[in-house]
Amino acid sequence: MINAAHLSKRYGRHQALVDVSFEARPGRVVGLLGPNGAGKSTTMRIVAGLIPPTGGTATVDGLDSVADSLGVRRRLGYLPEHPPLYPEMRVRGFLRFRARLFGLAGAKAGGAIERVLEACWLQEVAHRRIGQLSKGYRQRVGLAAALLHDPPVIMLDEPTSGLDPAQIAETRRLIRGLGAERTVLFSSHILPEVEATCDEAVIIARGRVLAQGSLEELRTQAAGATCIVEARVEGGGALLGALPGVEGVEQLRAHDGWTRFAVRAGASTVSLRERIADAVAGAGGAIRELRDEEASLERLYMRVLEGATAPATPEGAAA
Ligand code: ADP
Ligand code: MG
Repeated sequence: MINAAHLSKRYGRHQALVDVSFEARPGRVVGLLGPNGAGKSTTMRIVAGLIPPTGGTATVDGLDSVADSLGVRRRLGYLPEHPPLYPEMRVRGFLRFRARLFGLAGAKAGGAIERVLEACWLQEVAHRRIGQLSKGYRQRVGLAAALLHDPPVIMLDEPTSGLDPAQIAETRRLIRGLGAERTVLFSSHILPEVEATCDEAVIIARGRVLAQGSLEELRTQAAGATCIVEARVEGGGALLGALPGVEGVEQLRAHDGWTRFAVRAGASTVSLRERIADAVAGAGGAIRELRDEEASLERLYMRVLEGATAPATPEGAAA
């Protein structure tokens, strides 16, 4: 439903996106996760057809975001980072105004407005001025406006930023509800946010996709990557370091003849436990602990971010 293929974007001399590819499918909530300045908003603006990519293509429902931006806008509900709202307008009046922009009028517009008021839990504030609403409500007014034309694809740029915990929980529930039958892409710089709301994640930093997959797949990657072993064996560090698939060995501590190692795999999907057990046994040694490092998305996120500290451009112009 959303397809980004090899997107790149340059702002002047600053390379904001480099070869960004991902897909978001119907019935899935996909999180675009990355620190500030990663390129999340840029990616979304390109998908929405608001700015052209320097290279690559984006499509929504098979329509090209550049060549058919009007078609894309019809299929896409897009909540920008700072949605344009009119503080003087009342909620229902604002939605009527926005419905007209989508070409909806009369009973059709009325029906659409009541539908989005209900979907975004706004009925009780429908008569209030937007400027008097809390940030959580204002955010939902922006979302309601994006849903007026009942789009099958929804894209939300940091929809929970600046909200309090109760509002965040409500927004999450709302997003999950939307994702049941639609394609939802939403961005965040907060990992637990993505973990709580998404089926899949695309991790982006400095304009590059560093990892992507279902949360389960990403957790497995995180888990398989490092193995903790405590062994009593002659030349343990060298023995483990020479195993196929091992990228590095770190000696954690030694005590009473037992040494604890962290063994890092080169390919993040391989678990090294069996190889380590065989090698230590083959060398006449003993093992008293052997386990994959606990599966945690946080560990993966921290690791991929650490690996992305090299600047994307020679100038390293990231803000
Ligand atoms: P995110 O939404 O992940 O915080 P953005 O897509 O807003 O990241 O920005 C990515 C990078 O591109 C940042 O380094 C930002 O400073 C830069 N950037 C974004 N918009 C512009 C612009 N209009 N002109 C120049 N640089 C920009
Ligand atoms: Mg942004």
